[in-house]
Amino acid sequence: MPELPEVETVCRGLAPYMEGKIINKFILQRDGLRNTFPPMFAERLIGQQVHKINRRGKYILIESDDYTWLMHLGMSGRIQRSKADEYKLQKHDHVIWYVADVAFAFNDPRRFGDMDLFLKGTLNSALNAMAPEPFKIELDDFYKRLQRTTRPLKTALLDQTVIAGLGNIYVCEGLWQSGLSPFKQSNTIKKTQAKILLENIIDVLNRAIESGGASLRDYRTIEGALGYFQHQFNVYDQKGKPCLTTKCSGTIERDVQSGRSTYYCKVCQKN
Ligand SMILES: [Zn+2]
Repeated sequence: MPELPEVETVCRGLAPYMEGKIINKFILQRDGLRNTFPPMFAERLIGQQVHKINRRGKYILIESDDYTWLMHLGMSGRIQRSKADEYKLQKHDHVIWYVADVAFAFNDPRRFGDMDLFLKGTLNSALNAMAPEPFKIELDDFYKRLQRTTRPLKTALLDQTVIAGLGNIYVCEGLWQSGLSPFKQSNTIKKTQAKILLENIIDVLNRAIESGGASLRDYRTIEGALGYFQHQFNVYDQKGKPCLTTKCSGTIERDVQSGRSTYYCKVCQKN
């Protein structure tokens, strides 16, 4: 499932093909994904010049002359790029758009993805509730946001008003790398622990973005998929494997918190 690094990878893949170009064709294969598409969606976007592709949390923001086109990949959304004259409709291609001589198809088998359109400058209010990006949040701010809740640390970190862009995978990885228990009550974290946690979250995300970028380059030459691939994780989905923490003799376990899998090591993630 796409989280911040995968969405960042998709944004970086779209930018060189879309920025500065005009959307000359926009086709909807259905009337919505998770939500119904906005009215006159295609009509409003056709003819718009794309200025900038941005990311906020797990959202892709495509800025054009008059609009911000908001996109969320949901659970299974991918964007496939091909030459305009070679594009063939695939199963689950729900939205197709053409920019110069390139065709993009939003493919989403599970249809948890989302798209919306906002008049330029009106989007901020909608995304204001979201916490700052991991790369931008101040330690004091992050610490205060963790102090506000008695929920387990794992659950708190998934909350987009505590920190933006994290999902199940990178929360598990960040907690493991910090030696922090996913069950620890969020408001009991010490500032020194919050500092280590934030540094490790940034480290985990940066490494994923780096490898995502690398895989994107390889992938693109084969079939033009602006997607993401499953990285090799240290703890996520590693149930039963030995813990990779230096000198730790523990085994990775799986538990369920708020309906989501938590992977952790009981031995080195005690506190
Ligand atoms: Zn361990």
